[in-house]
Amino acid sequence: MKKTKYYNDKTVIFLDGNWVKAKDANVSLFSQTLHYGIGAFEGIRSYQTPTGLCLFKAENHFKRLLNSLEVLNIQIPYNEDELNEITLQLLQKNNLRNAYVRPLVFMEDDMRLTPARKAHVMIAAWEWGQLLGKGELNITLSTFQRPERKFLPVTAKLVGNYTQAILASQEARARGYDEALMFDTFGNISQAPGANFFLERDGELFTPSVGSIMTGITRKVVMEYAKEMNIKVNEQIITVDMIHEADSAFLTGTATELVSIKSIEGIKMKLAWPDSIGSQLAEIYQHRIRNDDYQSMTIV
Ligand code: PMP
Repeated sequence: MKKTKYYNDKTVIFLDGNWVKAKDANVSLFSQTLHYGIGAFEGIRSYQTPTGLCLFKAENHFKRLLNSLEVLNIQIPYNEDELNEITLQLLQKNNLRNAYVRPLVFMEDDMRLTPARKAHVMIAAWEWGQLLGKGELNITLSTFQRPERKFLPVTAKLVGNYTQAILASQEARARGYDEALMFDTFGNISQAPGANFFLERDGELFTPSVGSIMTGITRKVVMEYAKEMNIKVNEQIITVDMIHEADSAFLTGTATELVSIKSIEGIKMKLAWPDSIGSQLAEIYQHRIRNDDYQSMTIV
């Protein structure tokens, strides 16, 4: 796979109130985030639409970032609107239209296990294709479990949580699969390392209910689109047996968008992808992200 170039000599990032060249930006090797994984981030996509450049569901993403920070008891001097404005400026400065935006909040130097007092805010953006390609994924059931709420705040996008995601993806690829599907601590299906899971059965959709999952913004959007299509979405426990009965399945996420699953642990989906509900939803999703006036805060 081609390696993504996240920045070049001209790339500008936002760092603590300043616009700095990515190549010149410095981070201390003694940051608490680097050592212990405390910090939070987001992943947002911008799309060129007929009414201008839009950040897809920006409000939900910045709300989730602020919620993640609240979980960690970290304060930053920016609210949702300011973060939105900074991000639009960032895209303009880098001449980016269809891009992926990464706000990251990381901590000052502190080697203690008590919370560092000061947080740094960084926002960068780059061009990025769909994270898991165009789909037709062969998925394996992971030996790694998603933690439950009492172990880690699963709905917050915390830096340290992603070691587990990388381990699950690594295991899947080592076994010759495209991606992993993880269980929750009760042995039910939870989600992929960085994307939410849906399956189709008898004309209805099923997705794991809130508990061990990241409450994905794309998941929510897709559920709304399904509702508009009069398709029932069941948020419930998804057992492994349900995979045997699945007509189709797919993953959702900001970086992933909506991609098809071809097989899970060797069990092939019954429907050809173009005949599935997921395929219709993917079409709607692709159309809406590029055409809808879904965000008031835009650059024309
Ligand atoms: N699960 C995890 C662990 C994620 O990091 C993401 C990406 N934010 C998702 C699911 C999908 O969430 P969203 O649709 O909000 O991008």
